[in-house]
Amino acid sequence: MITQILGYPRIGAQRELKKACEAYWAGKITEKELFEVGSEVKRSNWKVQQEAGIDWIPSNDFSFYDQVLDMSLTVGAIPKRYQPLLDNRVSKTDLYFAMARGFQQNGHDIIAMEMTKWFDTNYHYIVPEFSKDQEFHLFSSKVIDEYTEALEKGIQTKPVLIGPVSYLLLGKEKETGFHRIELISRLLPVYLNILSVLKNIGATDIQFDEPFLALDLTEKEKEAFHYAYKKIAEVFPEANIIVTSYFGALEDNLETAIQLPVKTLHIDLVRAPEQLDSVLDILPSGKKLSLGIVDGRNIWKNHFDASLQLIEKAINVLGEDRIVIAPSCSLLHVPFDLDSENDEDTLPVTIKNWLAFARQKVKEVKTLALLSDSATKASYLPELEENRAAIAHRSSSSLIHRPEVKQRVSDSTPNDAEREHPYSIRRLKQEALLNLPLFPTTTIGSFPQTPEVRKLRFDYKKQRISETRYHTALESEIIEAIRWQEAIGLDVLVHGEFERNDMVEYFGEQLHGVAFTRFGWVQSYGSRGVKPPIIFGDVSRKAAMTVKWTSYAQSLTDKIVKGMLTGPVTILQWSFVRDDQPRKTTTEQIALAIRDEVADLEKAGIKIIQIDEPALREGLPLRKRDWKVYLDWAVNAFKLSAAVVQDETQIHTHMCYSEFNEIIESIAAMDADVITIETSRSQMELLEVFSEFKYPNEIGPGVYDIHSPRVPSENEMETLLHKAVNLLSARQIWVNPDCGLKTRKWEETKIALERMVNAAKSIRKKH
Ligand code: GLN
Ligand code: ZN
Repeated sequence: MITQILGYPRIGAQRELKKACEAYWAGKITEKELFEVGSEVKRSNWKVQQEAGIDWIPSNDFSFYDQVLDMSLTVGAIPKRYQPLLDNRVSKTDLYFAMARGFQQNGHDIIAMEMTKWFDTNYHYIVPEFSKDQEFHLFSSKVIDEYTEALEKGIQTKPVLIGPVSYLLLGKEKETGFHRIELISRLLPVYLNILSVLKNIGATDIQFDEPFLALDLTEKEKEAFHYAYKKIAEVFPEANIIVTSYFGALEDNLETAIQLPVKTLHIDLVRAPEQLDSVLDILPSGKKLSLGIVDGRNIWKNHFDASLQLIEKAINVLGEDRIVIAPSCSLLHVPFDLDSENDEDTLPVTIKNWLAFARQKVKEVKTLALLSDSATKASYLPELEENRAAIAHRSSSSLIHRPEVKQRVSDSTPNDAEREHPYSIRRLKQEALLNLPLFPTTTIGSFPQTPEVRKLRFDYKKQRISETRYHTALESEIIEAIRWQEAIGLDVLVHGEFERNDMVEYFGEQLHGVAFTRFGWVQSYGSRGVKPPIIFGDVSRKAAMTVKWTSYAQSLTDKIVKGMLTGPVTILQWSFVRDDQPRKTTTEQIALAIRDEVADLEKAGIKIIQIDEPALREGLPLRKRDWKVYLDWAVNAFKLSAAVVQDETQIHTHMCYSEFNEIIESIAAMDADVITIETSRSQMELLEVFSEFKYPNEIGPGVYDIHSPRVPSENEMETLLHKAVNLLSARQIWVNPDCGLKTRKWEETKIALERMVNAAKSIRKKH
């Protein structure tokens, strides 16, 4: 039975590639040294797969920054603004990084290309830019070079390309008057060109990723699929062309997918196991089916018995020769190697035994193939037994199951998610209690994380300083922050979040049912990685999580200090989650834990509590039809976390990098008394939908872009506020930055906030 891997993580087991890229950008290493690190990562990735006995090992899945940007260079889709770099004969490497990161050198000031999320993952890709007269030509030979590089090491690989249709759909039109899919006939010759080169140098298997096959497609897009793969089959008819779909079911695109004249179709059976039957029913004879059966998006051990059942079903219809065993998608989305985790305090052995990272998943793929092959099955029964034991242990472990948590979720009623009275009544009570001016000023929570603050946390974590010393030091940070906020005249203060390194990890560490890793890095974009917590069991709060710091801050001032929490959907979204219960249930458990914290904050005299949900929008399913179900439970989880307070306590929420156009009803349904959003970069455009919708509650449209060191003028901020008043009514509007200030420096922050307070004062005079 054949096995394949669709893609392997490329940051390096110890994040070697991150370090090398950053050193190269800083001018500390040469291009040659950078390439050497890249080659080493590739070599060791290929070796892992070769040693495991994988048949179709990918090449060109490696990238120094992003595989979509690689594709743009491959097909020569280089936006015109980079022309001066080409004219100046900047190296391809520097051009590549300039497209990813912008270029400010030797008198040039060229902005970077846009970045956006790769489907519903936390990986971000560089968005291709297309013009109406877009031309394509083979510009970078990376795919060919990597194939050759592997061949020289004695490894026959399967070059991976983003398929032509998905490549176009991933991009964006930079002018009006055309749709990017219309470019297919101009783009295709480059693909065909690559194919003929690959053919000449001996490639036999070639993978085209077409994730859009699992999304809603127009007729035109479906036609583009037929057109493109017909041509592809014509130039290289003997090749084993593998078209992959993932992250969802083919559904209404099933016909399109199976009709493509290619030899192998890959489907995701983790996200959509139910599609197997319909695919088996109509898969034309002679085509192979690649079963994406090992989860490429999550870190749990594969459930062998369940997988073997699906494989057997497929074998019964197609026969062993037409089956390929694979992970559901590229392994890019999981960490490198579980074997690196050997710190019992971070990840207990018991939990480790339930997990599989990329390297382990490669092995699982092979073992599943061996177990479904009648000739080899008998020799691999011990592996099967071991897997059964781990699965059984996990499903019954007392570490996972907390009956009282399950009970609480099932006992909770719709009423628990509702505030006592509607906003119109709450508003009057809150006005009376809080006594805030028109256009109240506040910030989103975090203040600059100076090297001293980071070192403090680090030293405490490493037990280099005592708890008392740590707490005293944090207290003096808070004192300073409070005094300073009072001095510039902010209305609602925050404690500054100095104790948090990350808004999810901080809470995760204080919850039952959440574990962490030491090296579990996953690429987020370019050289950036995240280390998501692992939600493995029923979640509940160990003890109060923020009350100490918030009430300490409140004790220092007569002004109101706002409590600061991360919301349940964001905690879920930025973690690896359980696969043994619906996401909805896990989110409800987290919501109840946050609810307890909200209740404790209120009890401690905190009058305003903010529950951040920046990740609410990114949880949206890939198919529109599924949006409503998700939004309903996500909004409900937020409300469940918040609705424990009395009318007088004001609930805020915060969302950045969000577009609200299609989800405004759900945003309103969250019923937060105040929502703060990111709007400054769009010049308040993002606020328009709130106006059209007649959003009733209060809203703080960001007036200051915190992503840039640039300090806006008072005038600029006031102009933005005027725009906001034109869209909503004055009584609704709060004045705040776009997001938390933790990445900024104090110098910038101080001036910017002073100006922001002044802008609020001057607009108040006009109302
Ligand atoms: N309260 C958080 C902060 O200020 C919010 C961060 C976020 O929205 N991403 O840092
Ligand atoms: Zn934010």
